[in-house]
Amino acid sequence: MAPPKIEINSYGEPSVFGLVFGQATLQHSVAVWDIWLGLSERLLDGRPQGGVKALCYHRALKFLRKANSLVFKVDLHCHSTASDGLLPAAEVARRALQNGVELFSLTDHDDLGGLSAARSVVNEAGAGFVTGVEVSIEWGGLQIHVLGFNFDAEDAALNAGLASIRSGRVNRAQRMAAELEKVGIPGCFEGAMRYAENPNLISRSHFARYLVEIGVCEDVRSVFESYIVPGKPGYVDHRWATLEESVNWITGAGGVASVAHPGRYKLTKSEMRRFLDEFKSVGGRAIEVVSGSHSAENVAVFSRIAREFSFMASCGSDYHGPGESYMELGALAPLPSDLVPVWKAF
Ligand code: AMP
Ligand code: MN
Ligand code: MN
Ligand code: MN
Repeated sequence: MAPPKIEINSYGEPSVFGLVFGQATLQHSVAVWDIWLGLSERLLDGRPQGGVKALCYHRALKFLRKANSLVFKVDLHCHSTASDGLLPAAEVARRALQNGVELFSLTDHDDLGGLSAARSVVNEAGAGFVTGVEVSIEWGGLQIHVLGFNFDAEDAALNAGLASIRSGRVNRAQRMAAELEKVGIPGCFEGAMRYAENPNLISRSHFARYLVEIGVCEDVRSVFESYIVPGKPGYVDHRWATLEESVNWITGAGGVASVAHPGRYKLTKSEMRRFLDEFKSVGGRAIEVVSGSHSAENVAVFSRIAREFSFMASCGSDYHGPGESYMELGALAPLPSDLVPVWKAF
């Protein structure tokens, strides 16, 4: 039998049914043959067909991802109740799979507690799972987020580092509640805590949900406009990890560090460059180019920056839960095809 051609159809999916849309045609090799068998099985929807062996689809995908820049549904940024998401980790993973995500990472703030549940769900479905975390840091007086991917979740230094960040959160929450009391809103510490399934991870999102509950604002977004952001009641300065610490914890555990949603920070162009120079010099290797909170202009700007700094590119919805997110899991635009996707390093 002649070796098959693997084509990418207009939905960005690998296809072996002969319609050519122009992109990647891989060379004939044993690996390609394996992939064809794996894909055939999937395309035939598991129905038995003479001579088509069941080969591991995950293995095929892994090869394809490495082989070229094919378009897969990838979501490498989202949250569960282990931090400030609304859904348990297993449910977040299931939702991602339902939406067709083939490479998935859960990136809770400062906590790895959701990873094993998410991993089980994703592995069982034969999709790709990547360990993830979103580390809160302070740089130049701003709160910035550094994503970590593909690290050893058992690493002692990483776990100790994240525990040190978490231990500051309860104290910060008490100070936030004291500030809100000064403007006539009492009981916020207890109120916010009721929303925090992981009390060590008490977050501004939990305060926002409580302030909506008691009718101070109509929705979470308006709470962040009028309260708990710099210059507004309820915001307090806090010492998070440093940039260098966060990158060291991630890379020390064998992972890759990526700057989360760079379009969201109130940095001037020159401050952003200084930040990225420093990030690179301490071992940062990627930047989140496509994000649920990025405009098309942000994507263009940070694609240029990725090329210029030779950063790999990551992408993620930053999904927090139904009704509270910019974007649904897996609903991202693909990365610009000339960028090196961060999963090349996985
Ligand atoms: P924290 O880590 O406790 O400072 O909380 C930060 C979290 O608040 C972020 O991860 C977002 O989930 C949420 N957040 C920050 N700014 C906004 C905003 N403008 N609108 C909605 N959520 C926000
Ligand atoms: Mn969050
Ligand atoms: Mn973030
Ligand atoms: Mn996030």
